[in-house]
Amino acid sequence: SLTESFALYNGTYMPKVGLGVYKMNDTQEVVEAVQSALNVGYRHIDTASFYDNERGVGEALKQSEVPRDELFVTTKVWNDEQGYEETLQAFDRSMDKLGLDYLDLYLVHWPVPGKFADTWKALEKLYKDGKVKAIGVCNFMEHHLDELMQTAEVKPMVNQVEFHPRVYQKDLLSYCEAQGIQLEAWAPLGRGQYFDAPILEELSTKYDKSPAQVILRWHLEHDVIIIPKSSREKRQKENADLFDFKLTDDEIRKIDELHTGERIGAHPDEFD
Ligand code: NAD
Repeated sequence: SLTESFALYNGTYMPKVGLGVYKMNDTQEVVEAVQSALNVGYRHIDTASFYDNERGVGEALKQSEVPRDELFVTTKVWNDEQGYEETLQAFDRSMDKLGLDYLDLYLVHWPVPGKFADTWKALEKLYKDGKVKAIGVCNFMEHHLDELMQTAEVKPMVNQVEFHPRVYQKDLLSYCEAQGIQLEAWAPLGRGQYFDAPILEELSTKYDKSPAQVILRWHLEHDVIIIPKSSREKRQKENADLFDFKLTDDEIRKIDELHTGERIGAHPDEFD
């Protein structure tokens, strides 16, 4: 169910399925989308300062009757907010917009060269001060993690990266597993670009599930957290209805083979 979670290495529980809210920059849309998700049973919301919708997310959370300790809220520090002091200030701005007195997960949005080590120091401070329950990164490849670990005191608890069958980052997943870093998939649906792949259609028929559900189940089989985005209640329900079927090892391997490496987003060494 939507309350199923993975334990991060520091003991914080992170729900396996969350709602992504990227591109919902109309306040009314994001408020309604989060309200509808909470009604469906979602307890985990993934936003970012870059999405320009933290205020709407906060408004929906404030109106809801769900107790704060049942919610898991993630936001991220954007590239032009990075650096030690800058990040501490960015955090305060985000918290003010969200209207929360603590955050569940704060993430570095991209590994900005020359900056992310100082940004990380700020996240460590926020963590030690108890303002955030867990800290992590996004879009870090192995070499970024190795570099970060040279100066970090606290190891990231989460790495959120583009991860779906076409961008099956197998080596990064094993690396993170070995380090105790929880992998989280952004664009888990690959933005719906290849739902018609024959193996997805075949398994969709076999299990009486949609191709989207087959893809999302594949992530769970790999122990990866998912944050599919939808503002529509029907799809939000669909994207969470993943706990009454399982894929076989052979089926998981066949979906793994859809990997081509064609990314939707930027390569983490080439973003601007
Ligand atoms: P996604 O893979 O979740 O695809 C979302 C799109 O798929 C929707 O706009 C909708 O058109 C379609 N869709 C959703 N449910 C569907 C269903 N059941 N059937 C058919 N179509 C469906 O892509 P995303 O929004 O880019 O990624 C999810 C979340 O990841 C974002 O909202 C955001 O929170 C996060 N994200 C993070 C980063 C990062 O750099 N850290 C980058 C991009 C996205």
